[in-house]
Amino acid sequence: MIIANWKCNGSKEMMFSWFENYSKEIDCGDVPPTVGVAPPLIYFGYFNDENTSLRFVEWGVQDVDHLDESRTGAISVDMLIDMACDFSIIGHSERRQIFNENNNLIRKKLKSLNKRIMTILCIGETKEENDKGITKDVLKEQLEIVNGLELDTEFTVAYEPVWAIGSGLTPEPKDINEIHKYIKDVVQSNSENNLSPKVLYGGSVTDKNAESFFKEEFVDGALVGGASLDGTIFAKIVNIFNRTK
Ligand code: PEP
Repeated sequence: MIIANWKCNGSKEMMFSWFENYSKEIDCGDVPPTVGVAPPLIYFGYFNDENTSLRFVEWGVQDVDHLDESRTGAISVDMLIDMACDFSIIGHSERRQIFNENNNLIRKKLKSLNKRIMTILCIGETKEENDKGITKDVLKEQLEIVNGLELDTEFTVAYEPVWAIGSGLTPEPKDINEIHKYIKDVVQSNSENNLSPKVLYGGSVTDKNAESFFKEEFVDGALVGGASLDGTIFAKIVNIFNRTK
């Protein structure tokens, strides 16, 4: 599974050249991997079935609200279902850091999405936490939000070290693999239905380094930020995934 997170980037013009470049480059045969794009919500209307080059591309949102009521600026899970949205990212480190979201709120979001819209939960340690050697403790704490929940079988985790996002730095592929195995084990032990989730890697993934991650056993795909803004490069990453997995 390869997911693009466009964050607050793009324009109408960018989107049309993205569609064109993506469809020229993509080469996935009849059984493409799951590919999703989370554009800024205001542009989601361009992701429709009439745009045939996007036949196999799902669309999702970068975040969601957990309630439907008087909450100015919010979008609810019911609205996502109404508009046939395929997935929602939650818990991105930018939401945690810039918008002060904590585990308590992220658990509410997970509970309102669970079994209704496919959920991609982002977790990851900061540079300081990594340097202190407490990465697994930090991830375990962030994963507490699944405790006791009967999770949807499509529930997915994205491991995104905060220090790797947009920095050009990444952990070693073998270290990513070990962390992904750990994440699968923690979710399996703590969820009500003992679900072993898919785990994506995110943080400075490009068409140059993607293969080294995808070769690892427990890497089930990638969440791609900066490199997903170029349709050609994103399609190359999808093609690499399709060839490697
Ligand atoms: C992200 O922020 O989710 C991300 C993976 O960003 P980048 O690929 O730019 O590091």
